[in-house]
Amino acid sequence: MASIACQHHISWVIEVAPGMHQCILCTEVVDKRQITPKFDDLPVEFRKHWDEFEAGSGAGGAAKH
Ligand SMILES: [Zn+2]
Repeated sequence: MASIACQHHISWVIEVAPGMHQCILCTEVVDKRQITPKFDDLPVEFRKHWDEFEAGSGAGGAAKH
């Protein structure tokens, strides 16, 4: 679908909504399987943060949609 080959590098991926990540380069919503480098190769702290964010049950009291 996307005509550009975007790697969704993690430096372009931001948290846009509770449990949702978006690549600012191509504006697509991405999940952990789509990012670069591979999710499994990322530091454990990064993965932990990502998982907690995606779980959407953070202690921050983010509004539920
Ligand atoms: Zn992208």
